[in-house]
Amino acid sequence: MEEVVVSGRVLRGSRFQPGHVVVRRGRIHRVHRGERVDADLRGLILPALVNAHTHLGDSVAGRPPRMSLRALVGPGGYKHRILERTPRPRLVEAMRHALREAALTGSALCGDFREGGLDGARALRKAARAGGTAEPVVFGRPHPGEPLAPLLRVVDGLGMSSTSDHPGEWLADLRREARRAGRLFAIHAGEAHRRDIEPALALEPDLLIHLTQATPGDLRRAADRDIPVVVCPRSNIATRVARPPRRPPVAAMLRAGLRVALGTDNAMLHPPNLWAEMETAARLYLPQPATLLRMATENGLQALRRGPGGLQRGAPARLLVLDPDSPRLRDPLAGVVRRTRPDDILGLLQGDRWLHLRNRRNPAKS
Ligand SMILES: [Zn+2]
Repeated sequence: MEEVVVSGRVLRGSRFQPGHVVVRRGRIHRVHRGERVDADLRGLILPALVNAHTHLGDSVAGRPPRMSLRALVGPGGYKHRILERTPRPRLVEAMRHALREAALTGSALCGDFREGGLDGARALRKAARAGGTAEPVVFGRPHPGEPLAPLLRVVDGLGMSSTSDHPGEWLADLRREARRAGRLFAIHAGEAHRRDIEPALALEPDLLIHLTQATPGDLRRAADRDIPVVVCPRSNIATRVARPPRRPPVAAMLRAGLRVALGTDNAMLHPPNLWAEMETAARLYLPQPATLLRMATENGLQALRRGPGGLQRGAPARLLVLDPDSPRLRDPLAGVVRRTRPDDILGLLQGDRWLHLRNRRNPAKS
């Protein structure tokens, strides 16, 4: 599509105002005041969501029985045993469904930690090839001893478990090689305990996941190094890893100046629906709706190094159009954050393609 025009009320700061957005060749061309009658789609217009941390392959595992975090997701644990015995076509199909669900619930991008070495990363790329899915930002994880160069050519970065789960020298090598190849290096830290936070910071990662057990000092050190963090509040509740009240310290993170993004984590625990994560985060923390929406949009984009986000001229178009007549969205911004359901989404535009259009059956085939 050469040009797409969406019109209605456009999010500016924390308010929706009458306006329209012109997208040319997949990029934001202009944001105008005032509505336009000949638009392709009309509604409430805002940046698309970014699910900054997922493990979509885990959707093959189904809801797990109660067990420790290490037994659940650690090396050789429950999910890894299931992933190892899952035939590749089934894994690809499960990830395709999960990426489609992410798009249907408003996410243009998923920052996905993809285990399984080179073949695991290729399986995720294949899952995204069908179209109509969220785009994965692929954080691969090599098998120990696996040659790294082929994997680094396929992935956007490396996504590791924790410094408690991998040998330190290997992690330092991976970090160095990722940097040399111009790829990101991300790692979980402070999920079950804080012992792995300091060693993770020493690796100078591009992205940290969780920091649930972080002290104010840990948060300050991460903020000083300008390392973004992705929090996954529902995952922390489900895995019961954190001490009660089992929440990442989001208010302290924001006070420390950290860039905080949101993710839905393991797909066997929660499908990749970021609205559900936002609703939980709103209940737990009650931050301003604009702050929460920023965590779910531009902070996620920045965490995944996919640009400044927002509706700036020249930025790649990633736009959501919501139903202005939805009874749930009467108080628009608070309603958007707390009450949007998938059927309130009229369209999700990524570049020059509709990943999802409510009134069209299969936008991927358009
Ligand atoms: Zn994770």
